[in-house]
Amino acid sequence: MLLTITTTTPPATDLGWLLHKHPDKVQTFSLPFGSAIVFYPEATETRCSAALMLDVDPIGLVRGKPGSQDGGLLDQYVNDRPYAASSLLCVALSRVFGTAMGGRCADRPELVDRQIDLEATIPALPCRGGAALLRRLFEPLGYEVTAEQAGLDPSFPAWGASPYHRVTLHGRQRLQDLLSHLYVLIPVLDDRKHYWVGDDEVEKLLRHGERWLAGHPERELIARRYLKHRHSLAREALARLTADETPDPEAAQRSAQAEEAVIEETVRLNDQRTGAVIAALRAEGARRIVDLGCGEGRLIGALLQDKTVERVLGMDVSHRVLEIAAERLHLDRMSERQKARVDLVHGSLLYRDRRLDGFDAATVVEVVEHLDPPRLAAFERVVFECARPRSVVLTTPNVEYNARLAGLPSGRLRHRDHRFEWTRAEFTAWATRVAATHGYQVRFQPVGPEDPEVGAPTQMGVFRLGAA
Ligand code: SAH
Repeated sequence: MLLTITTTTPPATDLGWLLHKHPDKVQTFSLPFGSAIVFYPEATETRCSAALMLDVDPIGLVRGKPGSQDGGLLDQYVNDRPYAASSLLCVALSRVFGTAMGGRCADRPELVDRQIDLEATIPALPCRGGAALLRRLFEPLGYEVTAEQAGLDPSFPAWGASPYHRVTLHGRQRLQDLLSHLYVLIPVLDDRKHYWVGDDEVEKLLRHGERWLAGHPERELIARRYLKHRHSLAREALARLTADETPDPEAAQRSAQAEEAVIEETVRLNDQRTGAVIAALRAEGARRIVDLGCGEGRLIGALLQDKTVERVLGMDVSHRVLEIAAERLHLDRMSERQKARVDLVHGSLLYRDRRLDGFDAATVVEVVEHLDPPRLAAFERVVFECARPRSVVLTTPNVEYNARLAGLPSGRLRHRDHRFEWTRAEFTAWATRVAATHGYQVRFQPVGPEDPEVGAPTQMGVFRLGAA
């Protein structure tokens, strides 16, 4: 698979500065699915071409990483991925030309915003929607498009045409823009992404499309196909694209950095929380567990690793997170024995549900704060009165700790969807009353680093049926 980028704007060899790759060198980069080689077939003052060649390992794509149980991205050894431009090329673009895509050029910053004559050639681009769609995508961005459609097999003309086109795009552009156009539009034309589409794909689309997507006449098709026809994600992306916001790049950067810090802390905290919940379940001797508001199935995955766990049922109100959970847990590829241990069901914690009966323990991890306070009473009865497992392990944020979370503006809750967050006293009061009302005992445990003043970031209550 090959992509060449050529400029004829003198001094054409400035392309080397912009791409951060020296025209005299051949460089190889290792990627999860093969390797990428960058070289310059031509580098003169008047014309300079950089080539990105991908050497895709089709066996690795099917079998996955050595030693991994996960399997690969594809299930067929014979596929077009080694030859055709696809999202694999985009992964390579962002790995190999990430600095250029981000508009950074430390040595020659003045080059970044220069519009230069650029030509990109892709010898085999699958265009589902044909050359007409290819034109509708690139022409509004200021490219002249040439496309030559290849036949399926030259020896058998009767087989007709293939989706593969030899494509040349020519335009006066900033290099950064050309790279972001290719990054977004190649998978849109291919229309077969190789990896799962999650929320971060929306972020990627918005980031790479920042300068051009909102004004593109085909933005709906682009969002829909880029997000692999996931309508809810495409709608979200479009809503954010067209939201009437005055961008303040500095503020955006500040808030992104702050978010990153919070996210890093959250990742560590998630692991600690899962560990604490599992330890509590072991202490309770629970073998049959129902995870209420299971989200993307993080806890379920950890529970299935534990041989003493016989059965796990995950329930959530969101279809989308259940789909993600099924994918993360590889439910479709599990052995029959593993499959018998786990199930995911759609349901709401606000309605009594017989499927929740008969478990040793229920876990409710970071869920109550997503419920509207007036609905808490319904939740309480569904879990403690109707399902009534022997143990309930429940965690929720400790709002007092928010002051210690780097980057969280004061007074803000930790997540957009949180309806409230409790202080330690509020949680203790709620949990103690619930336990007393329904005949449970409750003990409390902090989770995460404990601060002498504000306590730990997460609070956990472990309820056990019966008097002490
Ligand atoms: N327990 C998971 C997810 C926490 S996020 C984890 O720790 O990773 C909160 C989850 O609660 C979301 O997946 C949300 O869809 C779910 N949720 C919110 N309201 C719910 C309700 N009424 N019934 C069931 N699940 C609910």
